[in-house]
Amino acid sequence: MKAVVALVGRPNVGKSTLFNRITKSRQALVDDMPGVTRDRHYADAQWDDKAFTLVDTGGFLSADDDYFASQIKEQLSRAVEEADILVFILDGRAGLSPYDRDLADFLRRTEKPVFYLINKVESLHRQEEELGEFYTLGMDRFYKVSAEHGLGVGDFLSDLVALLPNAPVIEESGESGESGESGESGESDESDEPGEDDVDGPIRIAIIGRPNVGKSSLANRLFGEQRMLVDDKAGTTRDAIELSVKRNGREFILKDTAGIRRKGKVTNKLEKISILKALDSMEDCDVALIVIDCSEGITDQDITIAGYAEKRGCGAVFLLNKWDLVDKSEKGQQAFIKELRRKARFLSFAPAVTISAKTGQSCHKIFDEVEKVYTEYCHRINTGMVNRIIEDAVSREEPSLHQGRRLKFFYASQVAVKPPCFVCFVNYPDAVHFSYKRYLVNQLRQMIPLTLTPVTLYFREKT
Ligand code: GDP
Ligand code: GDP
Repeated sequence: MKAVVALVGRPNVGKSTLFNRITKSRQALVDDMPGVTRDRHYADAQWDDKAFTLVDTGGFLSADDDYFASQIKEQLSRAVEEADILVFILDGRAGLSPYDRDLADFLRRTEKPVFYLINKVESLHRQEEELGEFYTLGMDRFYKVSAEHGLGVGDFLSDLVALLPNAPVIEESGESGESGESGESGESDESDEPGEDDVDGPIRIAIIGRPNVGKSSLANRLFGEQRMLVDDKAGTTRDAIELSVKRNGREFILKDTAGIRRKGKVTNKLEKISILKALDSMEDCDVALIVIDCSEGITDQDITIAGYAEKRGCGAVFLLNKWDLVDKSEKGQQAFIKELRRKARFLSFAPAVTISAKTGQSCHKIFDEVEKVYTEYCHRINTGMVNRIIEDAVSREEPSLHQGRRLKFFYASQVAVKPPCFVCFVNYPDAVHFSYKRYLVNQLRQMIPLTLTPVTLYFREKT
């Protein structure tokens, strides 16, 4: 698992600017799906051949949060708990604020390494005296940087990655087991373009959700008595093990990144799977099981986590857990699912099942749902069909004119699976309105049909 580096600081100090600067070069890796418009708050980053996960903690708060009053502590404790290294950013223009002092006091109490950055220092000499006040915080060392212009950021990053323990290098094309190991039977390489038989191959699942929703209970229920595989893929060995189970001739694999299954024995609080660990475990999964604790209702954080699954583009199944604790006369299954659909519209294609990991109620349905999702996730249709669907859709509802000219569709085809991805060749790709794109996606979904998987659609210029 990569080290997690969290940017903390009050609003407007430049966290997201720094985040963007550091991750810019790796953006393709994390956000290569057009149409993903929501802000990104985490990303893989790399410096001096060392890779880490960078988090903009400010991004976890929505604009209307009463930041100072209530959230600051929570944001911080979460960041401190989840991160391996903290980066505290101060605003060299606005100067020191009382909140900075509070933050500094808070951070002094953690045992994790903290880097102190004074941002917006564009001119080292002129601002030198003005920065004096920051030294009253009592830190040994400040890095003076300008996130906007990149000044000093390299020096800071070099010192930062020097602390990373055996940080694995991001490989250009991730997969390829390399020579050597004669792959065990049933193992597939995880390339984007799976072979023909991938539809029947093992399904990699991830279990994600807030702490205490029941992830480890579920992992034990689903994979309990099964053998463990050691994930010996180079660079990922920190403590990832893989659990495997066969049902009806199909293999399911759970990558146990955060030691979910062993948690009972390991009392270390930091081993709790959390948002960041969830991101990590979703890295190469096909279907994410998003666990929600019904007895607590559907919370904002559940939805945030669901949002990460959507962003990742994998298949998803909602598991409304602890159903045994719910007073059904007060709120029935339909009401729960309706609420979920309203709050997580962006994952409307994900099936939802009410279960109890504790009693085992309905847990037998989970693998069936996963398999259904996976089948669609790997679905491939021939180019003739794709073209017919698009042609029909376009003739039934013409796109609006673009600067007085007609948008022309030449041809379309499916270019990838996992998830199904389609490309339309047109004369002006930029002229396709997002609502028209949504219309076409819906047509593809209805006609193929693909109702349980994410679907992506790109427009390319015909050359
Ligand atoms: P966040 O709320 O901490 O994420 O802060 P942002 O990254 O959104 O930055 C807040 C404002 O500070 C924006 O208007 C940025 O353009 C500006 N800003 C960020 N970094 C720098 C910098 O290095 N120099 C200057 N002059 N402005 C900066
Ligand atoms: P995790 O932090 O998400 O891995 O959650 P755990 O699996 O450790 O579960 C947290 C607590 O919820 C434990 O006390 C479990 O026994 C309990 N729990 C998990 N699933 C259920 C369930 O379906 N029903 C009930 N009543 N309790 C559950």
